[in-house]
Formats: sequence, structure tokens, C-alpha cells
Amino acid sequence: MGGGQLGRFLAMQARDWGMEVYVFCPDEHSPAARLANRHFKADYQDLEALREFASMVSGVTYEFENIPPESIRFLSQHIITAPAALALETSQNRKREKLFLNKIGNETAPFALIETQEDIEAAQSGSLIPGVLKTAAFGYDGKGQIKVESADALAAAWLELDQQPCVLEGWVNFEKEVSILSARDFAGNLVHYPLIQNTHKNHILDLSLFPMAGWNEDLQQQAEEMSSRLLTELDYVGLLCVEFFLLPSGKLVVNEFAPRPHNSGHLTLDSHNVSQFEQQLRCLTGHIVGGNHTTYPNAVMLNLIGEDFSQFVKVAHRLSHDYPHLHIHLYGKDRVMPGRKMGHLTLVGDDLNRLQEEIETIRTLINEA
Ligand code: AMP
Repeated sequence: MGGGQLGRFLAMQARDWGMEVYVFCPDEHSPAARLANRHFKADYQDLEALREFASMVSGVTYEFENIPPESIRFLSQHIITAPAALALETSQNRKREKLFLNKIGNETAPFALIETQEDIEAAQSGSLIPGVLKTAAFGYDGKGQIKVESADALAAAWLELDQQPCVLEGWVNFEKEVSILSARDFAGNLVHYPLIQNTHKNHILDLSLFPMAGWNEDLQQQAEEMSSRLLTELDYVGLLCVEFFLLPSGKLVVNEFAPRPHNSGHLTLDSHNVSQFEQQLRCLTGHIVGGNHTTYPNAVMLNLIGEDFSQFVKVAHRLSHDYPHLHIHLYGKDRVMPGRKMGHLTLVGDDLNRLQEEIETIRTLINEA
């Protein structure tokens, strides 16, 4: 379910295992459907199409945050579906997500629910400004988010977001942003990958480093505990990504989680014996989770967003000549749009600093093409 690049990589893995892949997504042109044996081009709520889809496949997974959970629930009455709808329903609404995280004992950034004018007034005299006002629903890659620096700006921001139900988060002066990829199979076995460090531009992931600079056992353990709690409390089957803010005190707090493979895990395609996509497929198909061994100890991944891609195309030959070890992944999207993820580049090796320098040189060559 869903036709983006995450579905495309899942499809490639499934094809590699000799399977047929059917993609359900409403878009005419979608990166995953281009590789599918069959494209169910229908609305996510089209019950007739969902019924037909369920009758033709032996398992369903999803790769897109905004699929209606009712559709996943409907499919799960007919066919094996993993992860279950609960994880999707919880993560796709920031209110539900934060309340759930706190309920199971996973700390988040401080927040307040904003649903009425009274909530705004209470927040205006509260301690969450400066902060970020985020719509509870339909938010990803910075969509539906406004940074607010003053009480007046908060009121204006809520108007700009059409007074939808929102969450106001206090601004977090984080040291780093990191993520953990974890998988849980039907038998309840868990596997966690070492923490990955992420930097964002315009709220969209720009660069990932594996493992995070300054990785240590304590951080890894904090992350694994929180992720394990999520996996077990949600009775989750599949790959999950949890994103954290690392505070100057050395504590991790959860920013959000994604019930699917994640952009920060793309580097596992080139650096690990079992990629995040293979984990997802192993879980869905009733295999046990794989090991998380690295084929290279370090990796860096640079996203190609919007016009980066057009620039990249101009120097693609030169880059593949000068950097023969550069892994190039392009998603086959029909057109470039600002903020759209078009592809990514990965370097693997055994010296993180050198890889970082190299990827920044490559970035400059792309920018100046
Ligand atoms: P989100 O979609 O909520 O993950 O937000 C996208 C990015 O915006 C995050 O990865 C952070 O870089 C930044 N961001 C979001 N919320 C906050 C916050 N409360 N404090 C500081 N930075 C934030």
C-alpha cells in the first residue's frame, strides 16, 4: 500500500526473492508501481478495489504515512497485514502519538494540545514558546509546521493552520538528531540497528551518518529500550524507525516514530547484510528477523531533494567516474518538485570523517554543476 520510493525498494527486495509485487496507490505515476507486476490504481478508501487486491495477494504492508487506518483494518480481515493498523493510526496523528508515547513511558519534547481558543490563551502564557506549532494530522517532512517565537505569533500561526487541532511543542535545543531502526517478527524476535545521526534542511532529511558520531553503549541502550517498548506495546510486526532528539544532558527524547522503513535507513542498502527493506519483508513473510551486521563499519547518505536532482544529472557521469565507489539510487519520479525526494547517494567505508568530507565535496560538485 503506497507507491513511493520506500515501496519501490521493498518491491525490489521482493522481486529479488522471486515474488510478484502488486502496488496499491492512486497515483498514475509512482516509483513503486513502475516496478510492480500490477498496479491497483484506486483510492485508498475504495472498498471494492481493496477487496479485489486482498483476494489477489498473500500479504500486505504499507509504506505511506497517510493511508487511512480503516483501509488497513479492512485488509487485515481478509489477508495477513503487517504492521497492523494500530501503529499507523497512532503515528499519523501527533496527539495520539505523543499521548501513547508518554503512556508507555517514552519521554517526548514538552507539548500542549491546541484545540480551542482557550488552549491558545493558556499556551500564550505558558512555557512552550519559543516552540513549533504542528497540525495533529497529515504532517510529514515539515508540512503543517510553524515555528513560533512569541505569544502573538502563536495565535497567528494557529489561524494560518486553519485552527485545525494542533500540538504545540517547546523548542528543543538538541545536540543531535538520531534514529534507530528496529524490527520485530511474528515470533516476537527483535533486532535493532546502531543509532544513525541525521541532519535536516527545511525540515527534510538531508544527511545521515552511520553510526552517529559519538555513539556509545548508553545511548544505544536508551534508544533500544524505548523502541522495544513501542514494538511490544503495539504488538508490532515489521520494521519501525524511532527518531530522537539527543539533549545536552545525554538523554534521548522521542521526536516521532514511523511504522515503516525510513529515509535514514536507506544507507543499510549498501552498508548492511540485511537492509531495512529486507527486514520488513522478512517480518511480513513470517521469517525471523535477520542479523544487523555491517558489511562496512561506516556509511553516509545524502538525499537528492528537488533541484538537487537536476543538478546531479549534469555531473552524474563525472561523479561515477571520479567516485567509482559511490552508490547512486534514483527513484524514477516523473517530475522534479521543490522538496520532493528524488534519489540519494551513499558512501560506505571505514572512516566516518573521511566519508563526510568526501560526501561534502560531492555535494559541492552537484551544487556548482
Ligand atoms: P518533524 O516532522 O516533527 O520530525 O520535524 C522535522 C524537523 O524539524 C525535526 O527533525 C527537527 O529538525 C525540527 N524540529 C521539529 N520539532 C522541533 C522542536 N520541538 N524543537 C526543535 N526542532 C524541531
